[in-house]
Amino acid sequence: MPTILFIEDDATIAMGVEYSLKQDGFQVSLAYRLEEARDLLKHSSFDLVLLDLGLPDGIGYDLCKEIRAIRDTPIIILSARDEEASIVLGLDLGADDYLTKPFRLRELISRMNAVLRRRGSVETSDRILTFGDVTVVTQQAKVYKNGHEVLLTALEYRLLLALAANQGRLLTRAQILSQIWDVDEDFVNDNTLTVYVKRLREKIEDDPQNPLLIRTVRGMGYKAGD
Ligand code: CA
Repeated sequence: MPTILFIEDDATIAMGVEYSLKQDGFQVSLAYRLEEARDLLKHSSFDLVLLDLGLPDGIGYDLCKEIRAIRDTPIIILSARDEEASIVLGLDLGADDYLTKPFRLRELISRMNAVLRRRGSVETSDRILTFGDVTVVTQQAKVYKNGHEVLLTALEYRLLLALAANQGRLLTRAQILSQIWDVDEDFVNDNTLTVYVKRLREKIEDDPQNPLLIRTVRGMGYKAGD
């Protein structure tokens, strides 16, 4: 049973979603405030975090940052703030996905399953991929650059795998999206992919402003390696 930490201060939403998730076989812990969530995170581990942004004792972005600093648990942000800037900021802080309220429960559950599947599926193969000075140990879903481990979110990891497996080839944005995102591709706009690429570059390129591993091919997509 996947374990979910659900942080939401609106009791109606919290209990409604909790009920549906339990029906669908998830084990749910509810937190109404950031402090409660921090406490739960200290004592248990979760497969997935669902995070509201506007909370009584702070903003969800802070917790997103805190979680990302120490672990790679997938995070889906749930928020009424649907402006593009908020979405980009959430993704920049390491969230794996973003759903704006009001959302349909079926959509939430399919996004959750997609995030969990991506996480699970990358741990089953046993190959070591080399991508420039970056090494990907797919069995452990670990990434190293010059011998130092690089911490990636599930989606960044998926993006890296798609690129590393296609070195020397031009990948269109649509091809990349279809490999890293297996539900409702319509929700991932060009801007979102650009944000993921930027984040991944910051983690694996020597000079993210002059990327050598992930090159932009103007108007087309990206080329991995040389
Ligand atoms: Ca709220």
